Amino acid sequence: MANPKLRLTENVAGEFFVDASCIDCDTCRQLAPATFRDHGGQSSVFHQPETDQEMLFAQMAVVACPTGSIGAVVKSNAKAGVDAFPYKITENIYYCGFNSEKSFGAWSYLIVRSGEKGGNILIDSPRFTAPLVKKIEAFGGISQIFLSHSDDIADHARFAERKGLCTPPTARGD
Ligand code: SF4
Repeated sequence: MANPKLRLTENVAGEFFVDASCIDCDTCRQLAPATFRDHGGQSSVFHQPETDQEMLFAQMAVVACPTGSIGAVVKSNAKAGVDAFPYKITENIYYCGFNSEKSFGAWSYLIVRSGEKGGNILIDSPRFTAPLVKKIEAFGGISQIFLSHSDDIADHARFAERKGLCTPPTARGD
């Protein structure tokens, strides 16, 4: 949770802000470029969201930020951001959100496939958090975890060990 007392002076006044704990991972700027900018070594809010779309992406950035460095004056904003993940990018590919500091904010994805096609694949690992785990369970769980490189593994072991969440294709009888 961002600390208002550590609010960076580079933020414009208003609802959203970044505090001094930002690690400059770029997630917020990619997710909500209309709101967040790189002011040099860290991010800050240069434009408070005005449209519904800008607001949603800012709320999602609050949740995706790996260090909890983004604050919102209205606490209910966090729920909208949580509810938005996994976020559909195209067809059956979803951005998981909940980026992990353990992998310096690397993005992770869920590819949703039927059991006949081998089941769902988690690409790299997000933070292991209850709301996201429930959503992935609702999508049918995970059949495979694909780690694209060795230093972005975050909480993959916790996903793998979660009882009933991960079921290899062979164990499913596919
Ligand atoms: S997502 Fe968080 S840590 Fe990453 S650049 Fe934005 S404020 Fe900083």
